[in-house]
Amino acid sequence: MTGTSASEQAIAMSGVNKWYGHMQVLKGIDLEVGRGEHIVLCGPSGSGKSTLIRCINHLEEIQQGTVTVNGTTLSQKGSNADHIRRDVGMVFQQFNLFPHLTVLENCMLAQRRVRKASVADAKEKAMRHLERVHIAEQALKYPAQLSGGQQQRVAIARALCMDPKIMLFDEPTSALDPEMVKEVLDTMISLADDGITMICVTHEMGFARAVAHRVIFMDRGEIIESAKPDVFFSNPSHERTKAFLSQIL
Ligand code: ADP
Ligand code: MG
Repeated sequence: MTGTSASEQAIAMSGVNKWYGHMQVLKGIDLEVGRGEHIVLCGPSGSGKSTLIRCINHLEEIQQGTVTVNGTTLSQKGSNADHIRRDVGMVFQQFNLFPHLTVLENCMLAQRRVRKASVADAKEKAMRHLERVHIAEQALKYPAQLSGGQQQRVAIARALCMDPKIMLFDEPTSALDPEMVKEVLDTMISLADDGITMICVTHEMGFARAVAHRVIFMDRGEIIESAKPDVFFSNPSHERTKAFLSQIL
Protein backbone atom coordinates (compact mmCIF):
# COMPACT_ATOMS: atom_id res chain seq x y z
CA MET A 1 0.00 0.00 0.00
CA THR A 2 2.47 2.61 -1.06
CA GLY A 3 0.97 6.02 -1.56
CA THR A 4 -1.42 5.83 1.37
CA SER A 5 -1.73 9.06 3.29
CA ALA A 6 -0.31 9.23 6.79
CA SER A 7 -3.78 8.99 8.36
CA GLU A 8 -4.42 5.69 6.58
CA GLN A 9 -1.16 4.19 7.79
CA ALA A 10 -1.03 1.94 10.79
CA ILE A 11 2.73 1.53 10.64
CA ALA A 12 5.44 3.37 8.73
CA MET A 13 9.10 2.40 8.97
CA SER A 14 11.52 4.59 7.10
CA GLY A 15 15.24 4.07 6.59
CA VAL A 16 15.47 1.82 9.63
CA ASN A 17 18.96 0.57 10.41
CA LYS A 18 19.73 -1.55 13.42
CA TRP A 19 22.89 -3.10 14.73
CA TYR A 20 23.55 -5.63 17.45
CA GLY A 21 27.07 -4.60 18.39
CA HIS A 22 28.97 -4.50 15.10
CA MET A 23 26.50 -6.67 13.23
CA GLN A 24 23.92 -4.81 11.19
CA VAL A 25 20.65 -6.78 11.34
CA LEU A 26 18.23 -4.32 9.70
CA LYS A 27 19.38 -2.50 6.58
CA GLY A 28 17.40 0.41 5.24
CA ILE A 29 13.95 -0.96 6.07
CA ASP A 30 11.13 1.02 4.43
CA LEU A 31 7.72 -0.42 5.16
CA GLU A 32 4.25 1.09 5.19
CA VAL A 33 1.31 -0.89 6.49
CA GLY A 34 -2.17 0.45 5.88
CA ARG A 35 -4.97 0.30 8.42
CA GLY A 36 -6.60 -3.11 8.19
CA GLU A 37 -3.81 -4.47 6.06
CA HIS A 38 -2.53 -8.02 6.63
CA ILE A 39 1.14 -8.64 6.01
CA VAL A 40 2.90 -11.97 6.09
CA LEU A 41 6.64 -11.64 6.68
CA CYS A 42 8.85 -14.56 5.73
CA GLY A 43 12.51 -15.26 5.14
CA PRO A 44 15.36 -17.48 6.30
CA SER A 45 16.23 -17.89 9.96
CA GLY A 46 18.38 -14.99 11.10
CA SER A 47 17.19 -12.62 8.37
CA GLY A 48 15.85 -10.10 10.89
CA LYS A 49 12.10 -10.81 10.94
CA SER A 50 11.74 -10.92 14.71
CA THR A 51 13.96 -7.89 15.12
CA LEU A 52 11.87 -5.95 12.61
CA ILE A 53 8.57 -6.56 14.33
CA ARG A 54 10.07 -6.03 17.78
CA CYS A 55 11.20 -2.56 16.67
CA ILE A 56 7.56 -1.63 16.00
CA ASN A 57 6.74 -1.52 19.71
CA HIS A 58 10.25 -0.68 20.82
CA LEU A 59 11.13 -4.04 22.28
CA GLU A 60 14.30 -3.30 20.32
CA GLU A 61 15.98 0.06 19.88
CA ILE A 62 16.91 1.27 16.40
CA GLN A 63 19.99 3.35 15.64
CA GLN A 64 18.80 5.09 12.46
CA GLY A 65 15.50 5.82 10.76
CA THR A 66 11.99 6.27 12.08
CA VAL A 67 9.13 4.06 13.19
CA THR A 68 5.65 5.61 13.25
CA VAL A 69 2.64 3.78 14.66
CA ASN A 70 -0.83 5.25 14.20
CA GLY A 71 0.67 8.66 13.58
CA THR A 72 3.04 8.66 16.58
CA THR A 73 6.75 8.49 15.81
CA LEU A 74 8.77 6.52 18.33
CA SER A 75 11.41 8.59 19.97
CA GLN A 76 14.94 7.20 19.73
CA LYS A 77 15.10 6.19 23.38
CA GLY A 78 11.52 4.96 23.49
CA SER A 79 10.18 7.55 25.90
CA ASN A 80 6.78 7.29 24.20
CA ALA A 81 6.92 3.51 23.75
CA ASP A 82 4.15 2.93 26.29
CA HIS A 83 1.84 5.14 24.26
CA ILE A 84 2.54 3.12 21.12
CA ARG A 85 2.23 -0.22 22.91
CA ARG A 86 -1.33 0.63 23.88
CA ASP A 87 -2.29 0.00 20.27
CA VAL A 88 -0.10 -3.02 19.60
CA GLY A 89 -0.70 -6.62 20.67
CA MET A 90 2.01 -9.22 20.32
CA VAL A 91 1.94 -13.01 20.21
CA PHE A 92 5.17 -14.96 20.36
CA GLN A 93 6.30 -18.43 19.37
CA GLN A 94 6.56 -19.39 23.03
CA PHE A 95 3.21 -18.43 24.42
CA ASN A 96 4.66 -16.55 27.42
CA LEU A 97 1.62 -17.10 29.62
CA PHE A 98 2.15 -16.64 33.35
CA PRO A 99 2.31 -20.23 34.66
CA HIS A 100 1.09 -19.37 38.17
CA LEU A 101 -2.06 -17.64 36.92
CA THR A 102 -5.19 -19.25 35.51
CA VAL A 103 -6.24 -18.66 31.93
CA LEU A 104 -8.77 -16.12 33.13
CA GLU A 105 -6.24 -14.36 35.37
CA ASN A 106 -3.75 -14.24 32.51
CA CYS A 107 -6.37 -12.39 30.46
CA MET A 108 -7.29 -10.02 33.30
CA LEU A 109 -3.84 -9.01 34.56
CA ALA A 110 -2.86 -6.28 32.11
CA GLN A 111 -6.40 -4.95 31.94
CA ARG A 112 -6.30 -4.48 35.72
CA ARG A 113 -2.70 -3.22 36.02
CA VAL A 114 -2.36 -1.12 32.87
CA ARG A 115 -5.93 -0.13 32.06
CA LYS A 116 -7.10 0.03 35.69
CA ALA A 117 -10.20 -1.92 34.69
CA SER A 118 -12.55 -3.10 37.45
CA VAL A 119 -12.54 -6.81 38.28
CA ALA A 120 -16.01 -7.18 36.76
CA ASP A 121 -15.10 -5.39 33.53
CA ALA A 122 -11.78 -7.21 33.17
CA LYS A 123 -13.49 -10.55 33.73
CA GLU A 124 -16.29 -9.81 31.29
CA LYS A 125 -13.87 -8.82 28.55
CA ALA A 126 -11.57 -11.77 29.24
CA MET A 127 -14.47 -14.21 28.97
CA ARG A 128 -15.69 -12.55 25.78
CA HIS A 129 -12.29 -12.99 24.10
CA LEU A 130 -11.82 -16.49 25.47
CA GLU A 131 -15.16 -17.38 23.90
CA ARG A 132 -14.02 -15.83 20.68
CA VAL A 133 -11.01 -18.17 20.55
CA HIS A 134 -13.25 -21.07 21.65
CA ILE A 135 -11.59 -21.76 24.95
CA ALA A 136 -13.88 -20.18 27.54
CA GLU A 137 -14.52 -23.56 29.18
CA GLN A 138 -10.82 -23.72 30.17
CA ALA A 139 -10.86 -20.34 31.92
CA LEU A 140 -10.10 -21.69 35.40
CA LYS A 141 -7.27 -23.99 34.35
CA TYR A 142 -3.58 -23.20 34.50
CA PRO A 143 -1.49 -22.98 31.31
CA ALA A 144 0.32 -26.25 31.99
CA GLN A 145 -3.04 -28.07 31.94
CA LEU A 146 -3.65 -26.99 28.34
CA SER A 147 -2.26 -28.17 25.01
CA GLY A 148 0.12 -25.92 23.11
CA GLY A 149 -2.57 -24.91 20.66
CA GLN A 150 -4.92 -24.01 23.49
CA GLN A 151 -2.19 -22.00 25.22
CA GLN A 152 -1.50 -20.07 22.06
CA ARG A 153 -5.21 -19.28 21.66
CA VAL A 154 -5.19 -17.98 25.25
CA ALA A 155 -2.19 -15.81 24.37
CA ILE A 156 -4.17 -14.39 21.44
CA ALA A 157 -7.20 -13.74 23.66
CA ARG A 158 -4.98 -12.10 26.25
CA ALA A 159 -3.57 -9.72 23.62
CA LEU A 160 -7.08 -8.91 22.34
CA CYS A 161 -8.20 -7.95 25.85
CA MET A 162 -6.11 -4.79 25.46
CA ASP A 163 -8.12 -3.71 22.38
CA PRO A 164 -5.10 -3.50 20.07
CA LYS A 165 -5.45 -1.84 16.69
CA ILE A 166 -2.44 -3.78 15.44
CA MET A 167 -1.48 -7.39 16.10
CA LEU A 168 2.06 -8.65 15.62
CA PHE A 169 2.59 -12.39 15.47
CA ASP A 170 6.08 -13.90 15.60
CA GLU A 171 5.96 -17.49 14.34
CA PRO A 172 2.87 -18.27 16.44
CA THR A 173 2.61 -21.86 15.24
CA SER A 174 6.28 -22.88 15.06
CA ALA A 175 6.38 -24.39 18.53
CA LEU A 176 3.16 -26.38 18.07
CA ASP A 177 2.64 -30.02 17.26
CA PRO A 178 1.33 -30.28 13.70
CA GLU A 179 -2.20 -31.26 14.72
CA MET A 180 -2.55 -28.01 16.69
CA VAL A 181 -1.43 -25.63 13.99
CA LYS A 182 -4.80 -25.42 12.29
CA GLU A 183 -6.78 -24.35 15.35
CA VAL A 184 -4.40 -21.43 15.89
CA LEU A 185 -4.35 -20.45 12.23
CA ASP A 186 -8.15 -20.59 12.13
CA THR A 187 -8.25 -18.22 15.10
CA MET A 188 -5.93 -15.83 13.29
CA ILE A 189 -7.94 -16.06 10.09
CA SER A 190 -11.09 -15.07 11.97
CA LEU A 191 -9.22 -12.12 13.49
CA ALA A 192 -8.14 -11.05 10.03
CA ASP A 193 -11.76 -11.25 8.89
CA ASP A 194 -12.56 -8.65 11.55
CA GLY A 195 -10.27 -6.20 9.81
CA ILE A 196 -7.51 -5.76 12.41
CA THR A 197 -4.11 -4.63 11.12
CA MET A 198 -1.77 -7.59 11.24
CA ILE A 199 1.85 -8.45 10.63
CA CYS A 200 2.54 -12.13 10.94
CA VAL A 201 5.93 -13.77 10.72
CA THR A 202 5.15 -17.25 9.49
CA HIS A 203 6.08 -19.83 6.94
CA GLU A 204 2.52 -21.12 6.81
CA MET A 205 1.94 -20.36 3.19
CA GLY A 206 -1.68 -21.54 3.21
CA PHE A 207 -2.34 -18.87 5.81
CA ALA A 208 -0.52 -16.32 3.68
CA ARG A 209 -2.71 -17.16 0.69
CA ALA A 210 -5.85 -16.99 2.82
CA VAL A 211 -5.35 -13.66 4.59
CA ALA A 212 -2.32 -11.73 3.39
CA HIS A 213 -2.77 -8.63 1.30
CA ARG A 214 0.99 -8.65 0.85
CA VAL A 215 3.77 -11.13 1.45
CA ILE A 216 7.15 -9.66 2.30
CA PHE A 217 10.36 -11.60 1.96
CA MET A 218 13.39 -10.63 4.03
CA ASP A 219 16.94 -11.82 3.67
CA ARG A 220 20.05 -10.67 5.56
CA GLY A 221 18.35 -7.66 7.10
CA GLU A 222 16.76 -6.34 3.93
CA ILE A 223 13.30 -6.42 2.41
CA ILE A 224 13.95 -8.19 -0.86
CA GLU A 225 10.45 -8.55 -2.23
CA SER A 226 6.92 -7.42 -1.42
CA ALA A 227 4.00 -8.67 -3.49
CA LYS A 228 0.44 -9.90 -3.40
CA PRO A 229 0.33 -13.61 -2.48
CA ASP A 230 -0.65 -14.85 -5.94
CA VAL A 231 2.28 -12.99 -7.53
CA PHE A 232 4.65 -13.81 -4.69
CA PHE A 233 4.07 -17.55 -4.98
CA SER A 234 3.63 -17.92 -8.71
CA ASN A 235 6.00 -15.33 -10.09
CA PRO A 236 8.53 -13.98 -7.58
CA SER A 237 10.93 -11.42 -9.05
CA HIS A 238 14.09 -12.20 -7.13
CA GLU A 239 16.37 -15.19 -7.21
CA ARG A 240 16.66 -15.22 -3.45
CA THR A 241 12.87 -15.39 -3.12
CA LYS A 242 12.74 -18.26 -5.60
CA ALA A 243 15.45 -20.13 -3.73
CA PHE A 244 13.63 -19.62 -0.42
CA LEU A 245 10.27 -20.73 -1.82
CA SER A 246 11.80 -23.84 -3.36
CA GLN A 247 12.92 -24.84 0.13
CA ILE A 248 9.63 -24.33 1.94
CA LEU A 249 6.95 -25.20 -0.64
P1 ADP B 1 14.76 -14.04 12.39
O1 ADP B 1 13.61 -13.71 13.27
O2 ADP B 1 14.54 -13.72 10.94
O3 ADP B 1 15.24 -15.46 12.55
P2 ADP B 1 16.24 -12.31 14.15
O4 ADP B 1 15.65 -10.96 14.01
O5 ADP B 1 15.89 -13.10 15.34
O6 ADP B 1 15.99 -13.11 12.81
O7 ADP B 1 17.81 -12.16 14.15
C1 ADP B 1 18.53 -11.41 13.18
C2 ADP B 1 20.02 -11.51 13.51
O8 ADP B 1 20.27 -10.83 14.73
C3 ADP B 1 20.52 -12.92 13.70
O9 ADP B 1 21.82 -12.99 13.19
C4 ADP B 1 20.52 -13.10 15.19
O10 ADP B 1 21.48 -14.03 15.58
C5 ADP B 1 20.86 -11.71 15.68
N1 ADP B 1 20.27 -11.38 16.98
C6 ADP B 1 18.97 -11.47 17.32
N2 ADP B 1 18.74 -11.04 18.57
C7 ADP B 1 19.96 -10.65 19.05
C8 ADP B 1 20.42 -10.10 20.30
N3 ADP B 1 19.58 -9.85 21.29
N4 ADP B 1 21.73 -9.84 20.41
C9 ADP B 1 22.60 -10.07 19.41
N5 ADP B 1 22.24 -10.58 18.20
C10 ADP B 1 20.93 -10.87 18.03
MG1 MG C 1 12.49 -14.90 14.53
